Amino acid sequence: MAVSLRTLDDGAWVSVEDERRVGASELWYVTGVCDCEVADFVVEGITDVDVDGRTIAAETYGTCIRCGRSVTTDPVPVGRLVDGAFEPLAAEAVRIPWGDSVGWQVSPVSGTSGDD
Ligand SMILES: [Zn+2]
Repeated sequence: MAVSLRTLDDGAWVSVEDERRVGASELWYVTGVCDCEVADFVVEGITDVDVDGRTIAAETYGTCIRCGRSVTTDPVPVGRLVDGAFEPLAAEAVRIPWGDSVGWQVSPVSGTSGDD
């Protein structure tokens, strides 16, 4: 099944099937983008979107507000396709950029229950 993926509004949004689904200014927990174990990464822009199987990822740039470092990321998972529909990742998920050395997976934040 072909799904339309692109960036919109000069990198402010990831568009899935022409709907704005993931936007800049979100706060993500991301590993491997700075010296923090888990970065508090504020997305400032989206440069590209990619898909691996059912997983949709965005190449982004932004700032870790924990250490202040500005970083550009490899594709970071933002959601997945389930029966052709986009499901965003949970806000508390730890996102691991899609790179040769760090793998491709999403795991819960340690120390949280997973439920609100
Ligand atoms: Zn950091």
